[in-house]
Amino acid sequence: MTEAWIGALQQQVDERQDELFALLAELVAYPTVSPPARNTLEAQQFLEKQLQASGFATELWEVYPGDPNVTAVKRGTNRERYRSLLLNGHMDVAEVGDSGGWKRDPFKLVLEDGRAYGRGTADMKGGLAALLFASKLLTEAGVELKGDLLFQAVIGEEAGEAGTRACMERGCEADFAIVADTSGLAIQGQGGVITGWVTLQSPETFHDGMRSRMIHAGGGVQGASTIEKMAKLIAGLQDLERHWAVSKSYEGFPPGSNTINPAVIEGGRHAAFIADRCSLWITVHFYPNEDYEAIASEIEAHLLGVAQGDPWMRKHPPTFRWGGRSMIEDRGEIFPSQELNPQWSGLKALEQSHQQVLGVLPAVGMSPSVTDAGWIGREGIPTVIYGPGQLEHAHAVDESVDINELIYYTKVILGFIADWCNRPKEEAGSSV
Ligand SMILES: [Zn+2]
Repeated sequence: MTEAWIGALQQQVDERQDELFALLAELVAYPTVSPPARNTLEAQQFLEKQLQASGFATELWEVYPGDPNVTAVKRGTNRERYRSLLLNGHMDVAEVGDSGGWKRDPFKLVLEDGRAYGRGTADMKGGLAALLFASKLLTEAGVELKGDLLFQAVIGEEAGEAGTRACMERGCEADFAIVADTSGLAIQGQGGVITGWVTLQSPETFHDGMRSRMIHAGGGVQGASTIEKMAKLIAGLQDLERHWAVSKSYEGFPPGSNTINPAVIEGGRHAAFIADRCSLWITVHFYPNEDYEAIASEIEAHLLGVAQGDPWMRKHPPTFRWGGRSMIEDRGEIFPSQELNPQWSGLKALEQSHQQVLGVLPAVGMSPSVTDAGWIGREGIPTVIYGPGQLEHAHAVDESVDINELIYYTKVILGFIADWCNRPKEEAGSSV
């Protein structure tokens, strides 16, 4: 469907691009940096007003103090029978670090040499501004949407916080979802990430002077340094990581992308004691066709097997704590994976909308990073990552997005909303 009026409306994105970049400038000016987080309230209130002005019914609700999500819906005129679309984006941005490295103020949008500079322009306030502006133009033009248009502006994505997860737990149904995170206008799925803590705990605490009796013939004291035992578990994880690299693969990922990183180790009390507790914090990357529960079980089974081969660990096996709802609060995070199905009618329709604006089909593949897409996909909603900006510019000093790319993106989203939300649910041949 490429009716003439859509083209005319898309042309307005060119003509009114000052408004798009003014909106982006407002979003960039809120320093919603995470960590430390807890600083998105005003930005979310601003975004909520924009949505209300475009005819959305909105809710702003706290996830953490100072960090609310905004969820919104614009009810379709024939919502039972027409397709719904969920648009998702995160309001938080990556740390700025030493802003002395920046040539420009990270929180003041600067347009220069065809690029828009500022923290979040690529990841992902550019995407949010485009979603808002496309919705605004459709509303102003009085375009009827027969199906529901849903919007989630979430917190916490940069710190592994469960903004999108919380939205899905409150309940959300849609026939298709777009996460407007950085993808350079490619349609992407993703692998997943889960962090976990592996802990060894001795039931007794021994003085350092007892070591000789614990390790030498005739000592008679059955104890162990949990630090030394953890070294065996780390070696075991390396074996498993190598096994995965050899035995698992997924198209779109370099072999061995499924890594197990021993990221942080904490153990022992003091030089005068045998270490009676040791915890290892691991970061695990897995493929789109795997889920985090199965990955956690596989690691547990493997490490319990390693423990079986050690007389002390056989009696005192490791314990596990997986994931968490926040790196800041829980020291743990989960990003579920997201597979793509090329047969999804939403994916095909988005390809068409992209082609209508850019003249070529978009790349379809896998993000080398992770986003909130997996939380939406887990609820059975066909979900893709599709957003403006390049990953090498996200999180970087002097973050920027290509101005034309953002304009193209806004046009594609505008056309896609008008197309998708006016397709009947029972459309023949696209039951996927
Ligand atoms: Zn992002």
